[in-house]
Amino acid sequence: GAALHPSMRTLTGEPLRPVAEMSPKRVLLVNLACMGAPALLIIQGVLQNGQVDALAAAIGCIVLFALLALRMVDLVGQVQDKARQLDAVAHIDALTALPNRRAWDLELRRRVASARRHGTPVVVAIIDLDFFKRYNDEYGHQGGDHLLSAAAAAWRAELRPEDLLARYGGEEFGAIFDHSRLADADRIIERLQEVTPQGQTFSAGAALWNGTESAEELLARADAALYAAKNAGRDRLYVTS
Ligand code: GH3
Ligand code: MG
Ligand code: MG
Repeated sequence: GAALHPSMRTLTGEPLRPVAEMSPKRVLLVNLACMGAPALLIIQGVLQNGQVDALAAAIGCIVLFALLALRMVDLVGQVQDKARQLDAVAHIDALTALPNRRAWDLELRRRVASARRHGTPVVVAIIDLDFFKRYNDEYGHQGGDHLLSAAAAAWRAELRPEDLLARYGGEEFGAIFDHSRLADADRIIERLQEVTPQGQTFSAGAALWNGTESAEELLARADAALYAAKNAGRDRLYVTS
């Protein structure tokens, strides 16, 4: 009966089915079905003085166990798919498809820890679009959204795969350049300025990890440099070693 259920046909298929509702009645039914073969063994053993139809009971057990195992593999696959989807939603910014603030925090700490272990240089930069409020006022919020995602895509394409670019918040982005010095950051930021869409400018602050500070201290120095770049007139990079 279990093998003939219509859902068996979809077990080997690709599409994700909604998990069937497991009502208490259904759970009870599945349990009773699983106990059919062993129960038969007990009944026959007791009523027929040990004379049991071992072959029928054994085949019944094997078939049921195989069906259950197949279901379990399918369900575990579904759970893993959901976990992957959930992980992506939790770490990716919906507008720009870049890693979000949560992913940024984790990755910054991980990379500073790695730099500490291996003694390699790492540069952190914060990029903030200039007068973006004004851009929103002029082109509308949707126009602003469009610029954010276009700029994110253009910048991402300019960076090496191992560089991290994340949406830190609003119109602020964080970047981590592994194995880089401040001179490299200077060149990279210049390239990003060139590809920013619609002639939009940004200011940036960059800091080179000093070899001892925490991820938070490093970020705070990059933020202070950004603040200085804004105060100095915007559309520029300030660095702090
Ligand atoms: P500054 O040069 O000093 O950075 O000026 P600014 O206008 O860019 O900075 P401010 O912090 O005053 O304003 C940031 C603006 O960014 C305000 C907000 O409406 C806009 N913004 C933040 N997040 C989003 C978003 O997701 N979509 C859009 N369209 N706008 C956003
Ligand atoms: Mg800002
Ligand atoms: Mg801004």
